Amino acid sequence: MTNVVDLCSNLIRIDSTNTGDLDTSAGERKAAEYVATVLSEAGIEPAVLESAPGRTNLVARIPGRDSSHGALLVHGHLDVVPADASEWSVHPFSGEVKDGYVWGRGAVDMKDFDAMVLATVTGWQAEGYVPPRDIVLAFTADEEAGGDYGAHFLVQRHAELFEGCTEAIGEVGGFSVTVAPDLRLYLIQTAEKGIDWLRLHAAGRPGHGSFVNDDNAVTALCEAVARLGRTEFPVVVTPTVQAFLEHVSEVLGVELDPDPEKAIAKLGPIARIVGATIRNTANPTRLSAGYKDNVIPGKATATIDCRTLPGFADQFQEQLRAVVGDQIEIETVHHQAALETTFDGPLVDAMAAALRAEDAGARPVPYMLSGGTDAKAFATLGMRCFGFSPLQLPADLDFAALFHGIDERVPAEGLEFGVRVLDRLLRSS
Ligand SMILES: [Zn+2]
Repeated sequence: MTNVVDLCSNLIRIDSTNTGDLDTSAGERKAAEYVATVLSEAGIEPAVLESAPGRTNLVARIPGRDSSHGALLVHGHLDVVPADASEWSVHPFSGEVKDGYVWGRGAVDMKDFDAMVLATVTGWQAEGYVPPRDIVLAFTADEEAGGDYGAHFLVQRHAELFEGCTEAIGEVGGFSVTVAPDLRLYLIQTAEKGIDWLRLHAAGRPGHGSFVNDDNAVTALCEAVARLGRTEFPVVVTPTVQAFLEHVSEVLGVELDPDPEKAIAKLGPIARIVGATIRNTANPTRLSAGYKDNVIPGKATATIDCRTLPGFADQFQEQLRAVVGDQIEIETVHHQAALETTFDGPLVDAMAAALRAEDAGARPVPYMLSGGTDAKAFATLGMRCFGFSPLQLPADLDFAALFHGIDERVPAEGLEFGVRVLDRLLRSS
């Protein structure tokens, strides 16, 4: 078995920055070639699928003992977000191992899990191990820019590779949050908010900047954007958040505040992870108008990053219209539906058992991710999708801040723990 720390470090050293621009995204092919080499040395031959030059995806199937059972998809993306080396205490693409951590861009998002998957399945070859059911591996490009060249390309153009997959595991879940010395919550993702990137357009009367103008597009747009940015949408407790609160209340042995907002606010570091999962959100991210200091433009646009709760996409559109008013045109630039599955069934039981076997203080709980992952694409093929890339983390590590953050790093022991849990899970499910 290749060491998971070396695998993670080697993957980080391949700069696979996804800028969202085809011309400047370079390293995904190299990363995929590295993964393909590791797999083929273990007798697993992946299909190599490029959606555009250099935008490389890999899919491989490990036949199980009983291929008539639904297959399990295990997926990880190979791209990373950009990193500015001047801000880091080590070079972000050094993959340096120091102070018990593997450092670099992608250490937690998500070359850690890619490395765990490789360490686990290549370890099976030496003993000739065959898993109970088919396992499909997918290593994708472009997750960090929405996945059009990655997971969405795969499901749209190569759905046959996922034949029979009934469930999937990937990011972001299975990590520990320490609540007492011998008690760790492991947050397993069973839901993801939906994504709506919207453009608001305001139109007005163009003219000279020195004239009186009561129909200024910039003013109208700014009013709408400011109202929206300050709007707190109503709290809605979806089944996943309800289950999360019940589990946490039971584990901590405390009666949680009946107001879900207050209950979550009292959960310390977890609040940052789940705080945005009790309401729809709309954050203005870009503004654009005008071409000259003394010319009033006839139009102005703003981009709003909206995240919707499962089952509330339509209601959100109504809420949005009520806030911005009738004069603003709303254009949907990008839409991905929210996901939600239940925290039950043999796979969930196997995840919980694998965690407990490796950590007697483990308490698995379901949660909703406020962001989006490749699961959005795979769910369109009818799979139940879970965020489960198991990691045991030190109590004082601010895990959420490491995602896309400076000095992203992952504990080496956490990686090794992850391999043991993943190996147990894949052998038992
Ligand atoms: Zn990620």
